[in-house]
Amino acid sequence: MTPTVSMAGLKALSDSFESRQPQDVLAHAIGTYFPDIVLASSFGAEDVALIDMAHRINPKTPIFYLDTDFLFTETYETRDRLIAKYGIAPIQVKSLLTPERQAEKFGDKLWERRPDECCNQRKVEPLARVLKGYKAWITGIRRDQAPTRANAGLVEWDQKFELVKFNPLARWTSEEVWTYIKLHEVPYNPLHDRNYPSIGCTYCTRPVQPGEDPRAGRWAGQAKTECGLHIK
Ligand code: SF4
Repeated sequence: MTPTVSMAGLKALSDSFESRQPQDVLAHAIGTYFPDIVLASSFGAEDVALIDMAHRINPKTPIFYLDTDFLFTETYETRDRLIAKYGIAPIQVKSLLTPERQAEKFGDKLWERRPDECCNQRKVEPLARVLKGYKAWITGIRRDQAPTRANAGLVEWDQKFELVKFNPLARWTSEEVWTYIKLHEVPYNPLHDRNYPSIGCTYCTRPVQPGEDPRAGRWAGQAKTECGLHIK
């Protein structure tokens, strides 16, 4: 499919944001695309900061989350505290397969045997389905989270899902995200205070040890480092 916006135009726009703040990127994104833009949230640190920022720009900005059926209780509680504080209504997006149906079709503990297929069923397909309804999406990815994210633009054409992708926090460090969260008293997942810098499904997330890479707790012991949501 041909992008509805020029690639050169997006690159120039992205470059123009390199010296600006995330709120500037977000204000442009929401101002240009609302209501056809959606904020993806896993209720991790970056995403709660973005929810606060987006709420200040336009409290009606659509938000969705991928409910894999395997999220931590603390993640649902964080969602509920955000709903209470901001009056938002995050859209719950689920796999077409219940966990039971997945086990019937692929066998037990797919996440141990074929994590890529499990993520495909519970994250990638549902994401593709929800993004079909929008022209742009907003993510919380940062360049220093992983080598796979080091070249993330502030604005890009998402080749995989065929829409514009805004990464307002791409230039920020984790410290900058936490400074924002504390300054604005944004509700956050308490697991972050228990050595979980990156939080996904219960089966595939463990706390990290001092000195370990922040994403070492995701798919520990497997070659996998990404869900497949942000791979070009
Ligand atoms: S993170 Fe693990 S449990 Fe969650 S969808 Fe991916 S493989 Fe499955």
